[in-house]
Amino acid sequence: MTFRDKAARLLQLTEINEAEHGTIKSDGALNHHLWSDGEYLHRDLVNRFRAEVKDHYFWHQGSRCCYCSMELQYHGRVFDAEHILDKYGFPEFMFFPDNIAVACVICNTHKSTKSVLTGNDVRPVTIPTQSEDYKILHPHFDEWNHHLRFDDIGRILPVEGSAKGTETISICAMDGINFLRLAQKFSPGSRKDAYELMCKVVGYRSPRKIEYALTLMQELAEQSPDAIAVVETLREKVTQMQAQRAAEAAAAIAG
Ligand SMILES: [Zn+2]
Repeated sequence: MTFRDKAARLLQLTEINEAEHGTIKSDGALNHHLWSDGEYLHRDLVNRFRAEVKDHYFWHQGSRCCYCSMELQYHGRVFDAEHILDKYGFPEFMFFPDNIAVACVICNTHKSTKSVLTGNDVRPVTIPTQSEDYKILHPHFDEWNHHLRFDDIGRILPVEGSAKGTETISICAMDGINFLRLAQKFSPGSRKDAYELMCKVVGYRSPRKIEYALTLMQELAEQSPDAIAVVETLREKVTQMQAQRAAEAAAAIAG
């Protein structure tokens, strides 16, 4: 299996009752810290809610991260409860099972408080429940494999034409895992350096720095046709990025 099916949503809590759920929802709406505040009066309710929701999604997501679909281990340090609408920006939805999934620590950390709604200017009154309300693939409203796929070397790529796939890769910074896969094309002694150079190349804005990093990578790639192909592909990607940045800058000036 190389993807996860969309999880069945958790529609009925069993560990806390409706009134208790109402209490933590309304308190949480005023203070996002209540998700993990050990001093909170109703922390026992939060703990039971959190454990139930995390457990539900862990098992219903095929024990995979809702974004990158990497295999998770059943251990608290390996995965997080992920708030699709982040709990800092949208504390009013913090205790809604529809707004929670399980994600790997890396995706969760990178996604952080980045905006994921399509209608950025309008704050939703109720939790948006349509796929098209979200720029990224929604763990409960979208099928993973409609938007993302693994290629034959294990990179995570957008399904052709999927804007959600592209946006999810960007917001969760999946380039990192993809660069690890590509680094395997280099000789074992060069892999770490190649990986670090790939990360730098896409982060740099200065054409001179980009060219220098690519030249160093080219040297690491010598002797290996597969590695040389990686450098060439990266060069094309960077050229596209630069063209896109130039177009955005021109549009900003014109606008
Ligand atoms: Zn992940």
